[in-house]
Amino acid sequence: MLPSEITPPEKGTMRQLADDLYWLRFDLPFRLNHINLYVLDGEDGWIILDCGVHDPATVAHWDALLDGPLAGRPIERIIVSHHHVDHAGYAGPLAERTGAPVWMTESEYRYIVRMLAIAGPEFGELLEGAYRRYALTEEVLAMARQDHDRFPRFVAPMAEPNFMTEDHSVRSRGGEWRVRIDRGHSMAQIGLLDDARGLYLAGDYLLPRISPNISADLSDPDDDRLGAYLDYLEEVSGLPGEMLILPGHDWPFTNGGERARVLIDHHHMRLDALTEAARNGPVTVASSMEVLFSRVFGSHEIFFAAGEARAHLTHLVATGRMVMTLDDGIERFSLAD
Ligand SMILES: [Zn+2]
Repeated sequence: MLPSEITPPEKGTMRQLADDLYWLRFDLPFRLNHINLYVLDGEDGWIILDCGVHDPATVAHWDALLDGPLAGRPIERIIVSHHHVDHAGYAGPLAERTGAPVWMTESEYRYIVRMLAIAGPEFGELLEGAYRRYALTEEVLAMARQDHDRFPRFVAPMAEPNFMTEDHSVRSRGGEWRVRIDRGHSMAQIGLLDDARGLYLAGDYLLPRISPNISADLSDPDDDRLGAYLDYLEEVSGLPGEMLILPGHDWPFTNGGERARVLIDHHHMRLDALTEAARNGPVTVASSMEVLFSRVFGSHEIFFAAGEARAHLTHLVATGRMVMTLDDGIERFSLAD
Protein backbone atom coordinates (compact mmCIF):
# COMPACT_ATOMS: atom_id res chain seq x y z
CA MET A 1 0.00 0.00 0.00
CA LEU A 2 1.22 3.50 -0.74
CA PRO A 3 0.60 6.38 1.67
CA SER A 4 -1.50 8.10 -0.98
CA GLU A 5 -3.85 5.09 -1.12
CA ILE A 6 -4.56 5.26 2.56
CA THR A 7 -6.98 7.55 4.29
CA PRO A 8 -6.91 6.95 8.02
CA PRO A 9 -10.27 6.05 9.59
CA GLU A 10 -12.33 8.93 10.99
CA LYS A 11 -12.91 9.29 14.71
CA GLY A 12 -15.47 6.74 15.96
CA THR A 13 -15.18 4.59 12.83
CA MET A 14 -13.17 1.53 11.83
CA ARG A 15 -11.55 0.92 8.45
CA GLN A 16 -11.83 -2.67 7.31
CA LEU A 17 -8.50 -4.06 6.06
CA ALA A 18 -9.37 -7.78 5.90
CA ASP A 19 -12.47 -9.92 6.55
CA ASP A 20 -11.90 -9.81 10.28
CA LEU A 21 -9.42 -6.94 10.73
CA TYR A 22 -10.15 -3.26 11.34
CA TRP A 23 -7.93 -0.18 11.68
CA LEU A 24 -8.68 2.61 14.19
CA ARG A 25 -6.83 5.88 14.72
CA PHE A 26 -6.75 7.80 18.03
CA ASP A 27 -5.36 11.26 18.82
CA LEU A 28 -2.27 11.65 21.02
CA PRO A 29 -1.22 14.81 22.89
CA PHE A 30 2.38 14.57 21.60
CA ARG A 31 4.33 15.66 18.54
CA LEU A 32 3.64 12.13 17.26
CA ASN A 33 -0.04 13.06 17.31
CA HIS A 34 -1.82 9.76 16.68
CA ILE A 35 -1.71 6.01 17.30
CA ASN A 36 -3.16 3.18 15.24
CA LEU A 37 -5.19 0.58 17.10
CA TYR A 38 -6.57 -2.59 15.55
CA VAL A 39 -9.67 -4.69 16.16
CA LEU A 40 -10.03 -8.34 15.19
CA ASP A 41 -13.38 -10.02 14.76
CA GLY A 42 -12.99 -12.97 17.13
CA GLU A 43 -15.15 -16.05 17.52
CA ASP A 44 -16.52 -14.84 20.88
CA GLY A 45 -16.46 -11.09 20.31
CA TRP A 46 -14.05 -8.28 19.41
CA ILE A 47 -10.34 -8.59 20.08
CA ILE A 48 -8.77 -5.18 20.66
CA LEU A 49 -5.08 -4.48 20.10
CA ASP A 50 -3.83 -1.48 22.12
CA CYS A 51 -5.81 1.21 23.91
CA GLY A 52 -4.55 4.82 23.58
CA VAL A 53 -3.37 7.12 26.39
CA HIS A 54 -5.51 7.70 29.45
CA ASP A 55 -6.93 11.14 28.65
CA PRO A 56 -10.35 12.68 27.87
CA ALA A 57 -9.89 12.43 24.07
CA THR A 58 -9.30 8.68 24.33
CA VAL A 59 -12.31 8.23 26.63
CA ALA A 60 -14.53 10.09 24.14
CA HIS A 61 -13.17 8.03 21.28
CA TRP A 62 -13.88 4.73 23.04
CA ASP A 63 -17.37 6.03 23.96
CA ALA A 64 -18.08 6.54 20.27
CA LEU A 65 -16.75 3.11 19.27
CA LEU A 66 -18.40 1.11 22.05
CA ASP A 67 -21.74 2.80 21.33
CA GLY A 68 -21.14 2.60 17.57
CA PRO A 69 -19.40 -0.02 15.43
CA LEU A 70 -18.40 -2.23 18.38
CA ALA A 71 -21.85 -2.26 20.00
CA GLY A 72 -23.82 -5.51 20.07
CA ARG A 73 -20.92 -7.91 20.55
CA PRO A 74 -18.82 -8.40 23.68
CA ILE A 75 -15.16 -7.51 23.85
CA GLU A 76 -13.47 -10.92 23.90
CA ARG A 77 -10.11 -9.64 25.04
CA ILE A 78 -7.75 -6.67 25.05
CA ILE A 79 -4.15 -7.25 23.95
CA VAL A 80 -1.62 -4.59 24.97
CA SER A 81 1.41 -4.81 22.71
CA HIS A 82 3.83 -3.04 25.08
CA HIS A 83 4.00 -0.72 28.08
CA HIS A 84 4.31 2.68 26.36
CA VAL A 85 1.71 5.23 27.43
CA ASP A 86 -0.01 5.44 24.04
CA HIS A 87 -0.53 1.66 23.89
CA ALA A 88 -1.19 0.78 27.54
CA GLY A 89 -2.53 3.99 29.10
CA TYR A 90 -6.25 3.27 28.83
CA ALA A 91 -6.08 -0.54 29.18
CA GLY A 92 -7.18 -0.61 32.84
CA PRO A 93 -10.33 1.54 32.42
CA LEU A 94 -11.21 -0.17 29.11
CA ALA A 95 -11.03 -3.59 30.79
CA GLU A 96 -13.21 -2.32 33.65
CA ARG A 97 -15.89 -0.87 31.43
CA THR A 98 -16.04 -3.84 29.02
CA GLY A 99 -15.34 -6.68 31.45
CA ALA A 100 -12.77 -8.02 28.97
CA PRO A 101 -9.55 -9.70 30.12
CA VAL A 102 -6.27 -7.98 29.28
CA TRP A 103 -3.36 -9.92 27.81
CA MET A 104 0.22 -8.68 27.72
CA THR A 105 3.72 -9.98 28.39
CA GLU A 106 4.74 -10.28 32.01
CA SER A 107 7.83 -8.06 31.75
CA GLU A 108 5.96 -5.21 30.06
CA TYR A 109 3.27 -5.44 32.77
CA ARG A 110 5.82 -5.51 35.61
CA TYR A 111 7.41 -2.40 34.13
CA ILE A 112 4.07 -0.56 34.24
CA VAL A 113 3.60 -1.54 37.89
CA ARG A 114 7.09 -0.31 38.71
CA MET A 115 6.73 2.96 36.81
CA LEU A 116 3.46 3.72 38.60
CA ALA A 117 5.01 2.77 41.96
CA ILE A 118 8.06 5.05 41.61
CA ALA A 119 6.18 7.98 40.02
CA GLY A 120 6.81 11.20 41.90
CA PRO A 121 10.09 12.25 43.55
CA GLU A 122 11.63 8.75 43.21
CA PHE A 123 11.30 8.84 39.41
CA GLY A 124 12.49 12.47 39.36
CA GLU A 125 15.64 11.40 41.23
CA LEU A 126 16.21 8.42 38.92
CA LEU A 127 15.92 10.66 35.87
CA GLU A 128 18.04 13.43 37.36
CA GLY A 129 20.72 10.89 38.33
CA ALA A 130 20.84 9.54 34.78
CA TYR A 131 20.96 13.03 33.26
CA ARG A 132 23.83 13.96 35.61
CA ARG A 133 25.86 10.95 34.43
CA TYR A 134 24.98 11.95 30.86
CA ALA A 135 26.61 15.40 31.43
CA LEU A 136 23.40 17.30 30.66
CA THR A 137 23.11 20.89 31.90
CA GLU A 138 21.81 22.01 35.31
CA GLU A 139 18.85 23.51 33.48
CA VAL A 140 17.92 20.08 32.07
CA LEU A 141 18.47 18.45 35.49
CA ALA A 142 16.00 20.90 37.02
CA MET A 143 13.53 20.03 34.25
CA ALA A 144 13.98 16.32 35.07
CA ARG A 145 13.07 16.92 38.72
CA GLN A 146 9.81 18.52 37.56
CA ASP A 147 9.07 15.74 35.08
CA HIS A 148 8.37 13.05 37.66
CA ASP A 149 4.77 12.30 36.70
CA ARG A 150 5.36 11.66 33.00
CA PHE A 151 4.11 8.05 33.23
CA PRO A 152 1.02 8.21 35.54
CA ARG A 153 -0.15 11.36 33.73
CA PHE A 154 -1.11 9.10 30.80
CA VAL A 155 -1.38 5.58 32.27
CA ALA A 156 -4.22 4.41 34.53
CA PRO A 157 -3.58 1.59 37.00
CA MET A 158 -4.62 -1.84 35.74
CA ALA A 159 -5.41 -5.18 37.35
CA GLU A 160 -2.91 -8.00 36.78
CA PRO A 161 -3.49 -9.26 33.22
CA ASN A 162 -3.09 -12.68 31.64
CA PHE A 163 0.49 -13.16 30.53
CA MET A 164 1.05 -13.90 26.86
CA THR A 165 4.01 -15.90 25.56
CA GLU A 166 5.09 -17.20 22.15
CA ASP A 167 3.36 -20.49 23.06
CA HIS A 168 0.02 -18.72 22.68
CA SER A 169 -1.78 -17.91 19.48
CA VAL A 170 -4.78 -15.72 18.77
CA ARG A 171 -7.72 -17.01 16.74
CA SER A 172 -9.92 -14.61 14.82
CA ARG A 173 -12.75 -15.48 12.43
CA GLY A 174 -10.49 -15.42 9.42
CA GLY A 175 -7.30 -16.95 10.72
CA GLU A 176 -4.82 -17.96 13.36
CA TRP A 177 -2.27 -15.36 14.55
CA ARG A 178 1.17 -16.44 15.71
CA VAL A 179 2.53 -14.48 18.68
CA ARG A 180 6.06 -13.12 18.40
CA ILE A 181 7.72 -11.32 21.27
CA ASP A 182 10.50 -8.86 20.52
CA ARG A 183 12.97 -6.71 22.45
CA GLY A 184 14.47 -3.39 21.39
CA HIS A 185 11.91 -0.58 21.36
CA SER A 186 10.67 -2.03 24.67
CA MET A 187 11.48 -5.19 26.63
CA ALA A 188 8.96 -7.73 25.25
CA GLN A 189 6.50 -6.42 22.69
CA ILE A 190 3.72 -8.64 21.36
CA GLY A 191 3.48 -8.83 17.57
CA LEU A 192 0.83 -10.94 15.80
CA LEU A 193 1.42 -12.65 12.46
CA ASP A 194 -1.04 -14.41 10.22
CA ASP A 195 1.44 -16.05 7.85
CA ALA A 196 -1.25 -17.70 5.74
CA ARG A 197 -2.86 -14.37 4.87
CA GLY A 198 0.32 -12.28 4.94
CA LEU A 199 -0.70 -9.94 7.78
CA TYR A 200 1.61 -8.65 10.53
CA LEU A 201 0.41 -6.52 13.44
CA ALA A 202 3.85 -5.07 14.15
CA GLY A 203 3.17 -2.60 16.97
CA ASP A 204 5.98 -0.04 17.18
CA TYR A 205 8.77 -2.30 15.90
CA LEU A 206 8.38 -1.67 12.17
CA LEU A 207 7.10 1.77 11.23
CA PRO A 208 6.90 3.14 7.66
CA ARG A 209 8.11 6.72 8.24
CA ILE A 210 9.93 7.15 11.54
CA SER A 211 12.61 5.11 13.23
CA PRO A 212 11.15 3.54 16.40
CA ASN A 213 12.75 5.04 19.50
CA ILE A 214 15.40 2.72 20.93
CA SER A 215 16.18 3.97 24.44
CA ALA A 216 18.47 2.72 27.15
CA ASP A 217 16.51 1.75 30.24
CA LEU A 218 17.00 4.28 33.05
CA SER A 219 17.54 1.55 35.64
CA ASP A 220 19.55 -0.78 33.41
CA PRO A 221 21.33 1.43 30.84
CA ASP A 222 23.92 -1.24 29.96
CA ASP A 223 21.26 -3.62 28.61
CA ASP A 224 21.98 -3.62 24.86
CA ARG A 225 18.51 -2.78 23.55
CA LEU A 226 19.85 -1.60 20.19
CA GLY A 227 21.65 -4.92 19.70
CA ALA A 228 18.35 -6.72 20.33
CA TYR A 229 16.57 -4.41 17.90
CA LEU A 230 19.17 -4.91 15.18
CA ASP A 231 18.73 -8.69 15.61
CA TYR A 232 14.97 -8.21 15.22
CA LEU A 233 15.44 -6.12 12.07
CA GLU A 234 17.75 -8.78 10.58
CA GLU A 235 15.09 -11.39 11.25
CA VAL A 236 12.21 -9.45 9.72
CA SER A 237 14.29 -8.32 6.74
CA GLY A 238 13.32 -11.72 5.32
CA LEU A 239 9.57 -11.03 5.45
CA PRO A 240 7.73 -11.61 2.17
CA GLY A 241 7.43 -8.31 0.28
CA GLU A 242 3.68 -8.64 -0.16
CA MET A 243 3.01 -9.06 3.57
CA LEU A 244 0.85 -6.20 4.85
CA ILE A 245 2.52 -4.57 7.86
CA LEU A 246 0.06 -2.99 10.29
CA PRO A 247 2.05 -0.56 12.43
CA GLY A 248 1.29 1.40 15.62
CA HIS A 249 1.81 4.74 13.88
CA ASP A 250 1.37 6.20 10.38
CA TRP A 251 -0.08 3.81 7.79
CA PRO A 252 -0.18 0.13 6.75
CA PHE A 253 2.54 -0.76 4.24
CA THR A 254 4.18 -3.58 2.32
CA ASN A 255 7.87 -4.38 1.65
CA GLY A 256 8.54 -4.60 5.38
CA GLY A 257 11.85 -6.39 4.79
CA GLU A 258 13.10 -3.45 2.74
CA ARG A 259 11.99 -1.07 5.50
CA ALA A 260 13.90 -3.18 8.05
CA ARG A 261 17.07 -2.86 5.97
CA VAL A 262 16.66 0.95 5.80
CA LEU A 263 16.36 1.01 9.60
CA ILE A 264 19.45 -1.19 9.99
CA ASP A 265 21.42 1.26 7.80
CA HIS A 266 20.04 4.22 9.78
CA HIS A 267 21.34 2.80 13.07
CA HIS A 268 24.71 1.85 11.57
CA MET A 269 25.13 5.40 10.26
CA ARG A 270 24.42 6.72 13.76
CA LEU A 271 26.89 4.27 15.30
CA ASP A 272 29.52 5.35 12.76
CA ALA A 273 28.84 9.05 13.48
CA LEU A 274 29.45 8.49 17.20
CA THR A 275 32.61 6.48 16.52
CA GLU A 276 33.82 9.31 14.28
CA ALA A 277 33.07 11.91 16.98
CA ALA A 278 35.05 9.87 19.53
CA ARG A 279 38.19 10.13 17.37
CA ASN A 280 38.62 13.61 18.85
CA GLY A 281 38.41 12.34 22.42
CA PRO A 282 35.83 10.78 24.74
CA VAL A 283 32.17 11.56 24.14
CA THR A 284 29.34 11.85 26.67
CA VAL A 285 25.65 11.18 26.20
CA ALA A 286 25.10 14.96 26.03
CA SER A 287 27.72 15.48 23.30
CA SER A 288 26.38 12.42 21.45
CA MET A 289 22.89 13.94 21.45
CA GLU A 290 24.34 16.90 19.53
CA VAL A 291 25.90 14.52 17.02
CA LEU A 292 22.69 12.53 16.49
CA PHE A 293 19.97 15.18 16.72
CA SER A 294 19.93 18.56 15.07
CA ARG A 295 17.70 20.11 17.71
CA VAL A 296 16.05 18.87 20.86
CA PHE A 297 13.38 20.87 22.67
CA GLY A 298 11.54 20.33 25.92
CA SER A 299 11.63 17.56 28.50
CA HIS A 300 9.70 15.03 26.37
CA GLU A 301 12.15 15.22 23.46
CA ILE A 302 15.21 15.36 25.71
CA PHE A 303 13.99 12.18 27.45
CA PHE A 304 13.83 10.26 24.17
CA ALA A 305 16.97 11.80 22.64
CA ALA A 306 19.06 11.05 25.75
CA GLY A 307 17.74 7.49 25.92
CA GLU A 308 18.45 6.93 22.23
CA ALA A 309 21.99 8.36 22.45
CA ARG A 310 22.78 6.17 25.47
CA ALA A 311 21.39 3.07 23.71
CA HIS A 312 23.76 3.65 20.77
CA LEU A 313 26.73 4.16 23.10
CA THR A 314 25.70 1.04 25.05
CA HIS A 315 25.73 -0.94 21.81
CA LEU A 316 29.19 0.39 20.88
CA VAL A 317 30.46 -0.79 24.28
CA ALA A 318 28.64 -4.14 24.03
CA THR A 319 30.22 -4.80 20.63
CA GLY A 320 33.72 -3.83 21.80
CA ARG A 321 34.10 -0.66 19.79
CA MET A 322 34.06 1.68 22.80
CA VAL A 323 34.82 1.55 26.50
CA MET A 324 32.99 3.48 29.19
CA THR A 325 34.56 5.08 32.24
CA LEU A 326 32.82 6.89 35.08
CA ASP A 327 34.89 9.86 36.29
CA ASP A 328 33.53 12.65 38.50
CA GLY A 329 30.11 11.05 38.11
CA ILE A 330 30.13 11.52 34.31
CA GLU A 331 29.99 8.61 31.85
CA ARG A 332 32.63 9.00 29.16
CA PHE A 333 32.90 6.78 26.11
CA SER A 334 36.21 6.38 24.25
CA LEU A 335 37.28 4.30 21.29
CA ALA A 336 38.56 0.86 22.30
CA ASP A 337 42.23 0.21 21.43
ZN1 LIG B 1 6.17 2.27 21.79
